[in-house]
Amino acid sequence: MLPRVSVFSLGGTIAMGAATSDKGVSLSHSAEMLIAAVPKLADIAEIEAQSFRQLPSPDITISDLEALAREIDKRFADGVRGVVVTQGTDTIEESAFIIDRLVKDNAPVVFTGAMRNPTMPGPDGPANLYHAVLTALEQQARGIGTMVVMNDEIHAARYVQKLHTTSPAAFHSYPAGAIGWIIENQARIVTRPASRFPIALSTAHHGPRVVRLAVGLDEDGALVDLALRAGYDGMVIDATGGGHVPKAMTEALGRAATRIPVVYASRTRHGETMQSTYDFPGAETDLLDRGLIPAGWLGGIKSRLLLLLLLRNGAGEDEIRQAFDAWCHPFGR
Ligand code: GLU
Repeated sequence: MLPRVSVFSLGGTIAMGAATSDKGVSLSHSAEMLIAAVPKLADIAEIEAQSFRQLPSPDITISDLEALAREIDKRFADGVRGVVVTQGTDTIEESAFIIDRLVKDNAPVVFTGAMRNPTMPGPDGPANLYHAVLTALEQQARGIGTMVVMNDEIHAARYVQKLHTTSPAAFHSYPAGAIGWIIENQARIVTRPASRFPIALSTAHHGPRVVRLAVGLDEDGALVDLALRAGYDGMVIDATGGGHVPKAMTEALGRAATRIPVVYASRTRHGETMQSTYDFPGAETDLLDRGLIPAGWLGGIKSRLLLLLLLRNGAGEDEIRQAFDAWCHPFGR
């Protein structure tokens, strides 16, 4: 008997079909249609397909993903070997990161999508889906948590980033590289990320909101103050370099940090935030003195999600600081 794999579809380019207007493709393919486009899947797994959501990926909500995490754990309890989730690539690094925190079971969850829609020459969706199922079935993928499979590569959810608007090779992993690849119908895992960093599913009905602001030269703190007035519960600053902002922003950031958690990440998206290298107004040492929390290597996009999940669980400032710090010391201090 073939092993069972559950495929949940959430929408995205992989599920978009013939345009009804001259403006481009739109959502049209159910999970069953995605499976039917890859007949080879029937040779390797018994697939259970579910059209869970049908959305462009920026419209996926944290609540959708909490519901998905519950559903995934139910399927594992029911004996499926692995789970595949298809969705739009624009936010796949975000959904995968959240599901990686929320799913309890150790069995593999593999996200995939497509950069070329099914109406284009050489659509990548069918190959990506086949490779995602291969990865979900792979024994060595157990215990890793959530992965993203695109363009013959296997990425850990925590590291993967979309770094190109259209190329099938849009996905890369920083700071640690891809954890494996697909070769001759096998998923090859060569690296296992340390620690799962789970977060309990929240019961929050009205979720907190976290804003992420990108910083550039000659900016002031007006948006920081506006965000406070708009009632955000947390803030992530995509600072320049290792964690630097213009002097004109520092007072507003300090004010914000006395009221809500404010995390500084690096807009470079590659490398770790500094804590003790520079001493000038707006440098990382100044931000730390004003109460900001360093993101470490996590980057602004995922830092926002981590902060959101922690706030949804009612975490206080100490717990939030410790959570960000732990990511930099996955083997302990
Ligand atoms: N470029 C996106 C994709 O690859 C389309 C929008 C979305 O992310 O859903 O699926």
